Amino acid sequence: MRATALKTEFTEYIPADPRSGHLYISMEYATAVHLCACGCKSKVVTPLGVADWQLIFDGTVTLRPSIGNGQFPCRSHYFIRSDRIEWMHPVSAADSLLASSKDQAALRTKASKIIESPWWWGKFLRGPRGS
Ligand SMILES: [Zn+2]
Repeated sequence: MRATALKTEFTEYIPADPRSGHLYISMEYATAVHLCACGCKSKVVTPLGVADWQLIFDGTVTLRPSIGNGQFPCRSHYFIRSDRIEWMHPVSAADSLLASSKDQAALRTKASKIIESPWWWGKFLRGPRGS
């Protein structure tokens, strides 16, 4: 059954056998763990950090970005916002493909901009202003 809320537990050690409907947060290990909110019991590990998930605590817990379980058969996708689950459309294989091709397109655009408008190249040729 799909969960609509998670009960947050701050703990030093994440239990080996987490209970569904609970969100375990270990500040010591900068990690949050919960069982997939769809009820499939897949363990979802979300490392916390600048490049990972952001944890916002205001008495309730919000995790950013969303939890996209594209690697599990359920492909569930949801936000944890103020201890509540906000369900999104499932992550589809097409979505992951699209996301990666978008990334590649963005990279190509970035690369072509560097090649086509080398502002630094003109500066390099002219030398510093005033000389
Ligand atoms: Zn699931």
